[in-house]
Amino acid sequence: MNDSITIQRGYKYRAYPTDLQKQWLEREFGAARFVYNHFLDVRYTQYKTTGKGLSYADTAKLLTVLKHIPQHAWLKQSNAQVLQQALVNLDMAFNNFFEKRTKYPKFKSKRGRQSFRVPQAFRVEDNSVILPKMKTPLRFKQHRKWRGSVKSVTVSKETSGQYYVSFLVEETVDLPQPVETEVGIDLGLHSFLVTSAGNKVAHPKWLNKSSKKLRRLKRQHARTKKGSANREKARLRLARQEKRVAQQRKDFLHRLSHQLMDENQAVSIETLAVKNLMRNHRLARSIADSGWGEFVRQLEYKAKWNGRALRKADRWFPPTQLCSCCGYRNTELMLKDREWDCPSCRAHHDRDINAARNIDTAGRAGIYASGENVRPVKRRRFSRKEEAYGLVP
Ligand SMILES: [Zn+2]
Repeated sequence: MNDSITIQRGYKYRAYPTDLQKQWLEREFGAARFVYNHFLDVRYTQYKTTGKGLSYADTAKLLTVLKHIPQHAWLKQSNAQVLQQALVNLDMAFNNFFEKRTKYPKFKSKRGRQSFRVPQAFRVEDNSVILPKMKTPLRFKQHRKWRGSVKSVTVSKETSGQYYVSFLVEETVDLPQPVETEVGIDLGLHSFLVTSAGNKVAHPKWLNKSSKKLRRLKRQHARTKKGSANREKARLRLARQEKRVAQQRKDFLHRLSHQLMDENQAVSIETLAVKNLMRNHRLARSIADSGWGEFVRQLEYKAKWNGRALRKADRWFPPTQLCSCCGYRNTELMLKDREWDCPSCRAHHDRDINAARNIDTAGRAGIYASGENVRPVKRRRFSRKEEAYGLVP
């Protein structure tokens, strides 16, 4: 009998609002955006003038006050829950910023992706959902069914003009049988990733082709006259291609992260390398293109869903320079050296596979484990060899 866990999973479907519903949605998007932007400004000003920040609860109280001011009375037409959720989103954006996961929250633009979340009082039926204050059911195409209870509904409109509904569903799933294998991976510019088992996954070629097309469409868009019909056409073409590329990339990353977490009980990665490389502006774009950040995020939650571990070795060691056989540190190694021989033990190394092996060793040494359902990695004593090799934090 396998263990089971409760997880929250998102299900997203294309929605088909009627013209009347579109008008209604537009107003809800607008209200959520207004509240978000307004309180982003309020929180900033408050902090600048008093040095003290505002909490979610503070802003929720202020929102009630705001609705009583005649010029903002239009907010009362909207679902109060939707407005509160906008404040929750804002609060999360601030928390992410404070914990250094993201940049300072930005104002939401009328031209960007629009969305609002409804946390309760909705009803889901076959291929439609009834939202509070929306009188008619909003139709969507449910291509995949879920088993579990729906926690919230988010309605969104992409810049391409398409509408979506996503459901956050709480499900109980069985954990797969544990496996014996563990692996270290090195994320790189040469290959998308290299594993300590010696597998290399190339950067997908289509991504390059799609990005080229994307750049062309961007140029075309920039050349059109502001406010012209051609500009709108070019904007839509661009938005659709952006979506297509994002989808392709996501599919690629999902397949890969699924496979890694399926075949291994623990996956070790090195996270500092990503940050360091990002500082190099010339490389930053190809890294952002390859979606490492998203990849790590996927590994993280898939580890949790499968009862497996993602270990991040992020502090201390130069995985590329160390010989994975004897621990000799080769400071002479240049960026262009794809292969090298260890001057000490003469082992022949593929640069990336060697790095992946070191990352695997670091992970096994119990540097860091993440995922709630993972038994904590025991901090064992380090062997003399490991100490000698500098593989100890
Ligand atoms: Zn060596």
